[in-house]
Amino acid sequence: MDILVHPNPALKQPAALVDPAADKELARLVRAMAQAMYDAPGVGLAATQVGVQKRVIVLDIEDGLMALCNPIIVEASEETDIDDEGCLSLPGITVPVARSLTCVCEALDLEGAPVRLEAEGFFARVLQHETDHLDGVLIIDRATPEERRAAIRRYNEAAEER
Ligand SMILES: [Zn+2]
Repeated sequence: MDILVHPNPALKQPAALVDPAADKELARLVRAMAQAMYDAPGVGLAATQVGVQKRVIVLDIEDGLMALCNPIIVEASEETDIDDEGCLSLPGITVPVARSLTCVCEALDLEGAPVRLEAEGFFARVLQHETDHLDGVLIIDRATPEERRAAIRRYNEAAEER
């Protein structure tokens, strides 16, 4: 399973809600996404990044693999933190992105049971990053216009070296 890279137009498409109880493809999709994420290696991957327009993300922040369906950030702190963020769909660069320091994410697990995650720090950042992907939003879209231009320049230079 290949990870799409910018400027693939599929990365800009919003993904559709899934019904974990009815969608028999989800378990296989999640296994393939996890494999692609670990191979990269990365800490999170959204289905959008493998060209599947379903609201599914996988992440592994030390505690093992987590798969979330239809994740939504229902609460996000006003207090933000700017940190350099990378993305498997923008290989070779990082971009400074402001994210809420803490957030609450509601989702469904693969069986369709509700999940509520209270996250802070890096975990909160990854949840916000991956949820953004499902809406077609990349880190360069979160940057200031100036940072975006600089990031795209670095990205194109990195692409030439690949
Ligand atoms: Zn990403």
